[in-house]
Amino acid sequence: MSILVVGSVAFDSIETPFGKAEKVIGGSATYFSVAASFFTDVQLVGVIGDDFSDEHLEVFRGRPIDLAGLERVPGGRTFHWSGAYGYDLNVAETKATHLNVFGDFKPNLPETFRKPDVLFLANIDPELQLEVLRQVERPQLVALDTMNYWISSKKKELERALAEADLVIINEGEVRQLTGEANLVRGARAILSLGPATLVIKRGEYGVLMITADRIFAVPAFPLEEVFDPTGAGDTFAGGFLGSLASSKKHDEARFRRSIIFGSVLASFNVEEFSLNRLRSITRADIEKRYRSFRELTEFGDLESGDFES
Ligand code: AMP
Repeated sequence: MSILVVGSVAFDSIETPFGKAEKVIGGSATYFSVAASFFTDVQLVGVIGDDFSDEHLEVFRGRPIDLAGLERVPGGRTFHWSGAYGYDLNVAETKATHLNVFGDFKPNLPETFRKPDVLFLANIDPELQLEVLRQVERPQLVALDTMNYWISSKKKELERALAEADLVIINEGEVRQLTGEANLVRGARAILSLGPATLVIKRGEYGVLMITADRIFAVPAFPLEEVFDPTGAGDTFAGGFLGSLASSKKHDEARFRRSIIFGSVLASFNVEEFSLNRLRSITRADIEKRYRSFRELTEFGDLESGDFES
């Protein structure tokens, strides 16, 4: 099945307690596409400036990622995000957001992009998310991400986009900000009441919760000794998760759960190095090996008759 993503292709400047990276490749659509491309074909819609060179585009090469929807604006500068993390790596502090070419971006999807099976509206201006929805035939699955920046600046537009999504993938702080509910399960109910059937809540090093009207599925993050830079973990998770879903015709509960694990596996690799450096070096065999370790990590037996002495 095909998967279409619209989101940012960016330069990031990042500071973590372990190091600094200046103007490295980032962006929600970038992390998403590379992660999803391990599982299925990806079509990418986004915008870059002249400063995103052919050498930078190498990040997509050799992978099933169609760049026909990646517009380059002559004379323009690429979206640039600067962020910092303290020792609590779950919380990113945005230092600067330079929209640059994103400021006047109007997506115009190539004909071949207008019938995706799965659509991922990555973290970008909700007005652009709505514009993309208008240009495609209704996909089987529409998933959406966002962030605090858009929740505070474009809440109305975001709520309209949310109403058209089947699946929302956001982090726990965003659930609270969007709903005003301190309790995540109540916040989830409030989001589901806006339209989506499924909410996936990213909780950084604490893992992921998947919530529907009648079920909750919880997984931890893969415990790593070396967490270097969490940037892109959320988008990499979404890429692994939706890429895995899109690679299968069956979208039952068991498949959703396995796909959540694939997303978590991909995200766990991504945080081991800056930018997409780790994602670029892994193979399918690495993913399979960590999937199996994940399974061992979370496996436990059923209740047994001798569990209580009397
Ligand atoms: P995450 O997966 O949540 O860590 O997302 C990280 C990526 O989001 C970075 O590579 C940034 O380039 C991108 N990003 C940050 N702020 C924005 C924004 N306001 N709009 C679009 N993309 C953003």
